[in-house]
Amino acid sequence: MIAHHPSEATLAAYAAGTLPEALALVAATHLSHCATCRKTLSTLEATGGALLEDLPPVPLSIDALDRLLGRMDQPAPPPPPILNPELPAPLNRVALGRWWPVGPGVRYRPMQSSGAAWGGLVLAQPGRSLPRHGHAGRELTCVLSCAFADQDGTFAAGDLSEPGDNHDQPPAVIGVQPCLCVIASEGMRLRGLLGFAQRIIGR
Ligand SMILES: [Zn+2]
Repeated sequence: MIAHHPSEATLAAYAAGTLPEALALVAATHLSHCATCRKTLSTLEATGGALLEDLPPVPLSIDALDRLLGRMDQPAPPPPPILNPELPAPLNRVALGRWWPVGPGVRYRPMQSSGAAWGGLVLAQPGRSLPRHGHAGRELTCVLSCAFADQDGTFAAGDLSEPGDNHDQPPAVIGVQPCLCVIASEGMRLRGLLGFAQRIIGR
């Protein structure tokens, strides 16, 4: 059962294609688990389509139709190869860097993405906390396996954490298995060892 979902503002940004890639990958990971949010997304996309239909028509160049038909004859480019078959579909074609130890019992693996956000995988051992950090933008975390808890509750596989500005308590792994998450942020500046790693990795 999924208990924690992205805000409607985040889903609307995802539907409009305006979320930076790293945040969109985390949102897509949650959507791959969550039928409720997929339904909301369909509604948002339909609303966006209806708004497009209401826009005034724009004149096209005389050869626009020919160029469009010409493009349709070209074969679609092949999808990028699956690089990480162990990860859910939104993440399995994303290039990942190496694992970095970023504190006792916590490792971080950056993922390649473009745009104004950065992200990666965090693997934390039982009893450990995810890195402490401050916020200066949107941040999304989706649990891939096992669970963590913070002041907003318990987050298990598929749950998405979208903390507000008053999110001070670092999430702690619960249970006896390591917790694997995918995390992305626009403005988060990590403190401590992961902050150091973030600076040397360059994201
Ligand atoms: Zn959801």
